[in-house]
Amino acid sequence: MQKTEMGTEQKKVGNKGQKRARNVSVSLCPVAGKCGGCQWINRSYQEQLEAKETELRRLMEPYCRPERMIGMDQPAHYRNKVHAAFGEDRRHNAISGIYEEKSHRIVPVDSCYLENEKADEIIVTIRGLLKSFKIRPYNEDTGYGLLRHVLIRTGHATGEIMVVLVLGSPIMPSKNNFVKALLKIHPEITTIVVNVNDRSTGMVLGDKGQVIYGKGYIEDVLCGKTFRISPKSFYQVNPVQTEKLYRKAMEYAGITGSETVVDAYCGTGTIGMIAAESAGRVIGVELNPDAVRDARSNAKQNGISNIEFYRNDAGKFLVEMAEQGAMADVVLMDPPRSGSSEAFLNAVGRLSPRRVVYISCNPETLVRDLKVLTKKGYLVEKCVGVDMFPFTEHVETVCLLSKLHSDQHIEVELQMDELDLTSAESKATYEEIKDYVLEHSGLKVSSLYIAQVKEKCGIIERVNYNLPKSENSRQSKCPPEKEAAIREALGYFHMI
Ligand code: SAH
Repeated sequence: MQKTEMGTEQKKVGNKGQKRARNVSVSLCPVAGKCGGCQWINRSYQEQLEAKETELRRLMEPYCRPERMIGMDQPAHYRNKVHAAFGEDRRHNAISGIYEEKSHRIVPVDSCYLENEKADEIIVTIRGLLKSFKIRPYNEDTGYGLLRHVLIRTGHATGEIMVVLVLGSPIMPSKNNFVKALLKIHPEITTIVVNVNDRSTGMVLGDKGQVIYGKGYIEDVLCGKTFRISPKSFYQVNPVQTEKLYRKAMEYAGITGSETVVDAYCGTGTIGMIAAESAGRVIGVELNPDAVRDARSNAKQNGISNIEFYRNDAGKFLVEMAEQGAMADVVLMDPPRSGSSEAFLNAVGRLSPRRVVYISCNPETLVRDLKVLTKKGYLVEKCVGVDMFPFTEHVETVCLLSKLHSDQHIEVELQMDELDLTSAESKATYEEIKDYVLEHSGLKVSSLYIAQVKEKCGIIERVNYNLPKSENSRQSKCPPEKEAAIREALGYFHMI
């Protein structure tokens, strides 16, 4: 599968020492060690899923037991966005590939186990065409040459392909003939864009762009909605798993038709637009102006009229909403790896939505933020890992939090108990207990009743720190038949 340069690469490694060559030869990728993009390339997929699930279970232990990790059926070539840096080897032959980890040295790569295969083929074709068109790759040290990078984005559902040629200067000689030659070999390309990046920067794309073939963007379909993807738009890189992630988020959100939903950190509005189908009104908020512009145009194109997008810091926006006494039934939040902010989480507490669905690409910041939200009277009901990035160590998580009860004081009190879980209590979530009771006795039980029975069984202590005695009497008591059913469930989950 690996072509000429990969052969050279292997030989080079082999000359350096037998041990390293042996490691390389068993790998699904001979340059995995240098690239650093797929830390887990040498682990079986099942093993990867188990490792991710175990890690998530460890981090979520104080809150709930994660559902089974949602993996990929075919965990290869999933990346719809492929980038290759261009340069020259010592003999001035064009090379293309990835930057060696933490450097700007190019490691030649012709095909990658994670990347879209067609995109990799197109990059090899472009490299092969350079000589006959007298186009030299750009040299970062001297500033000579033209072609710096090639970026390819593909529409999983539509089959559309966008090629972005990133040049070090604006003039591309024989541009039209180059396009003709490329399309002759790859008629499946639907648009070609030239982007100029003449700065000494780590960024791939520069500010200026010119469409030289097709419409300048591609479209893709996610959960029945069409999204426009421009060279710079944010779009999830694994569309197969993104659909599963969004479906799970919708299941957790439990929207029934009339709710007001906030889609915070909404990017190009994908999740909010899917939610809009079954909500009364959706309010999207996002910091990046380009993403907000794309979001608005996506909503228009899909004929969605019950959604609005605001460009703002999500924390500031939510604080304003709370100050104005606005309400939200559901808050969907999908912050970057650094997680959310205190301001945002405090404002969630004030807005008091019934449910919060937290999508996270970093479980460490997720648990940090859950700690704050549980202090605000939320209970972590359930969570699940979705494997968006097979062969890497990254874990994506969807988590459902809900207000325990309509009585604010009681919720706060239960919340404090939740912070102090015993190991027995962490064995099954409230939601799992409810499901078990419903299935085995046909009874619907509330989290409050479960908490009361847990207290009776000594699993949690519900000392009423916050409330005057009179408040206690406002709690309804769990009826005996429900108590028996809950006890049975606790027994089933080995909690008593
Ligand atoms: N929900 C989207 C995007 C999630 S990525 C999707 O699934 O496609 C996280 C997003 O948060 C990015 O678009 C980033 O621009 C945005 N972001 C980062 N910090 C922010 C902040 N303080 N306020 C609002 N949005 C922010």
